[in-house]
Amino acid sequence: MKPLRLSEIANKVGGRLHGEDRTIDALATDTRALPAQGSALFVALKGERFDGHDSLAALVGGASAPTGAAGKAVGAEAPPTKAVAAALVSRQLGIDLPQIVVADTERALAAFAAALQAGRKAKVFAITGSNGKTSVKTLLLSILKQVAGKSAYANPGNRNNEIGLPLAVIDAPETADFAIYEMGAGKPGDIAYLTNIARPDVSLVNNIAPAHLERMGSLLGVAGTKAAIYDALPADGTAVINADDAFAPYFAERAHGRRILRFGLEASADLSARDIRATDEGMRFVLVSPSGESEVRLQLPGRHNVSNALAAAGMALGAEVALQDVVAGLEAARSVAGRLISHALEHGVQLIDDSYNANPGSLNAAIDMLAGQGGESWLVLGDMRELGADAQALHAEAGRRAKSAGIARLYALGALSAAAANAFGEGAKSFESHAALSEALRADLQAFVGGAEAPPTRLRVLVKGSRGSAMDRVVTALLPNG
Ligand code: ATP
Ligand code: MG
Repeated sequence: MKPLRLSEIANKVGGRLHGEDRTIDALATDTRALPAQGSALFVALKGERFDGHDSLAALVGGASAPTGAAGKAVGAEAPPTKAVAAALVSRQLGIDLPQIVVADTERALAAFAAALQAGRKAKVFAITGSNGKTSVKTLLLSILKQVAGKSAYANPGNRNNEIGLPLAVIDAPETADFAIYEMGAGKPGDIAYLTNIARPDVSLVNNIAPAHLERMGSLLGVAGTKAAIYDALPADGTAVINADDAFAPYFAERAHGRRILRFGLEASADLSARDIRATDEGMRFVLVSPSGESEVRLQLPGRHNVSNALAAAGMALGAEVALQDVVAGLEAARSVAGRLISHALEHGVQLIDDSYNANPGSLNAAIDMLAGQGGESWLVLGDMRELGADAQALHAEAGRRAKSAGIARLYALGALSAAAANAFGEGAKSFESHAALSEALRADLQAFVGGAEAPPTRLRVLVKGSRGSAMDRVVTALLPNG
């Protein structure tokens, strides 16, 4: 972050500075992850379980903390204050640090990020959607890095909510020409809040699928919240819309008056793909765009990634990036950890780690990918969480879908996935622990290979589940050193 005086920050967030006016060069919100050096402003946030005010008071040790230079430990036993030079608080603490006092620290964080962002020249790209946000962001970043003489920044994947996004905006280099922000929506109003911080010039809702229904209510609720990303566009902004999504007409309405670029694999659109082929490396297709056509060798698997590539291409073209840079960037992009990463096990068995996360939309994409590749496929499924009242039914639906797509076996972990196993019928097994599932799967793999040099048919095993289901533990157990 660029160095700023506390008085300037107080000004931007409408707070009052108590104490010495120091220069700050970093922000921190977690006392367990403080920067080792520099002069950080600690932002005391209140969560459901934790209050940053308490952890700061505990860390700095009440009024007995040292004055002057930060970074010195107080005596032998006291915890080091590391680089904390000041605090942003909603109640003044009896600690010996300069403090900016505001009514609401979360809002102040947002206001600070918005003020910094407003003074920057970067073209801003905002991405939301139920699935593929990080994938599109990765593809778009790869494209923008191809543009000669320009620099691009993207928020790290987990910094996409009301805390992480402002922190990422504050961290972004002042000199970046392009800034890409993935925005997550967990509840109504989230996207409007985030676009007020990072005002987009080019916006995308990648798709709408059942996710976070517990808090969002309905699919229409999800679409309504996410469409705020289009409301935030200026008159000369560009809305990139997924023509294959059922909500495409609704999004076009919300983007009314702005330039609209549609992409689609099925529906006719401004950007499309023809001659799509799955290869060992990924997907090949011909990109058809308003700027011309070009063959693309994408190093990511699955048709859904072709759709993601079209989305990223649409966003780049919306910012007048040349087609050759778009193609070079798409071809240079690689998978992100835990998202459809392929590992070769013994005897040519392919283990596909998609354990990063799951919801019905992304699971469908994974099933389609398996179905489209020939050979035999097994699906290892952990519970998909946060689906609300329909959770059982959505899991059962996924089980039926896997069956009709020709998946040979389903290994289910957890009470919800058991519903998928039931619906799947013959070939499904249900487990209650990672260890039991991993053990059974390992034995079945042995039996399948049957001691032969090469297995009778090519086998793919895909592992997927919500983050909370921690299906990466199954992946680790199956890998040679697991
Ligand atoms: P999160 O909400 O966890 O940040 P995300 O939206 O950033 O997720 P990615 O991390 O890009 O999504 O991808 C997560 C998974 O979603 C992938 O492993 C893949 O299975 C699936 N996925 C990616 N793109 C699509 C798509 N366009 N349609 C359906 N599923 C997709
Ligand atoms: Mg993501």
